[in-house]
Amino acid sequence: PKSPNNQLIKLHQDATKLYSHILLNTEIGQPALDYLHQRGLTDQTIKDYGLGYAPNQEILKPFFEERQVDYQTLRHSGLFIENQAGDLRDRFSDRIMYPIRNQSGQEIAFSGRLLKKADDQPKYLNSPETELFNKRRVLFNYDLARTAVRKAGQLILFEGFMDVMSAHQAGVDNGVASMGTSLTDEQIYAISRITKQVYVCYDGDVPGQKATQRALTILREHTQLSLGVIQMPEGLDPDEYRQQYGEAKLASALSTAKETPVAFEMRYLKTQHDVKTDTGRLQYLDDVLKLLATVRSPVEQDVYLTQLADSFQLDKASLRQQLSMIRPVQS
Ligand code: ATP
Ligand code: MN
Ligand code: MN
Ligand code: MN
Repeated sequence: PKSPNNQLIKLHQDATKLYSHILLNTEIGQPALDYLHQRGLTDQTIKDYGLGYAPNQEILKPFFEERQVDYQTLRHSGLFIENQAGDLRDRFSDRIMYPIRNQSGQEIAFSGRLLKKADDQPKYLNSPETELFNKRRVLFNYDLARTAVRKAGQLILFEGFMDVMSAHQAGVDNGVASMGTSLTDEQIYAISRITKQVYVCYDGDVPGQKATQRALTILREHTQLSLGVIQMPEGLDPDEYRQQYGEAKLASALSTAKETPVAFEMRYLKTQHDVKTDTGRLQYLDDVLKLLATVRSPVEQDVYLTQLADSFQLDKASLRQQLSMIRPVQS
């Protein structure tokens, strides 16, 4: 229990409790609690995820100094900012705190969210890399999702923590999120240990669609995985969808709005071209046929060709002929 890592984990556990106490039981935490309630998070969800609030004043530093935690441990925890003189002060201030846990469910870092938009500060601030926390390895909620993933035989990859918590509140517990960065091989490896079926459910806005495209490209390199996409309507993210339509609707969208990666990419490519013009349409068709050339199943290819022929009133035979002229690329 005296190993340096255990000490750092203990600090994070204590900090989690302290932030949570401030959020739930104090006057200074009230605006943050109101904010979370206003976003429709229940007290149960807030408890399940150990959410807290870091006030706009030094709080961890006096707390740990009183308990005689030594300076070097504090320095290495990532919970403080060090100035030129080596003085430490709390890193997180006036932020909603989301504890980040490792695969064993131990707190190893935080992500803090501003309550209000500010021009001079990022919306989310994460702990720096430490001995405990390597953001390339961590998937938010992996520890809690594991059982549900095994049971459902599939995992849902979200863009944000709020989306994971929204899904949880809607009874969907097989969701995880990366730390706001693109997917890494380490994360995909952790996923593939518990399931082979992965659904990407990123935000329905333009950056979310771009990110979906990128995630699919990375995931495809892991050929043992089966992939799908869940697309949120109207440019919403899953959390916004829940806020607008409620939990039951979110749960049903998550289970029914599934499409194949190719179907997603066909729709995505369509937004990249002006298909009302002849040139735009031809470029689009060219891109789609290149995509279809990578599809191995002839039946699946046929389904998309039929769709394409129907939606542009084209002869399927000529589409197929054009497709046969494209050399299949290794994907
Ligand atoms: P919220 O609903 O609270 O606004 P979000 O998850 O919808 O959060 P997005 O803007 O969609 O936020 O970003 C998706 C994810 O990217 C976030 O959950 C966070 O992990 C990461 N992220 C977003 N903005 C930043 C930022 N300024 N710095 C670091 N990470 C960020
Ligand atoms: Mn977004
Ligand atoms: Mn979002
Ligand atoms: Mn959001």
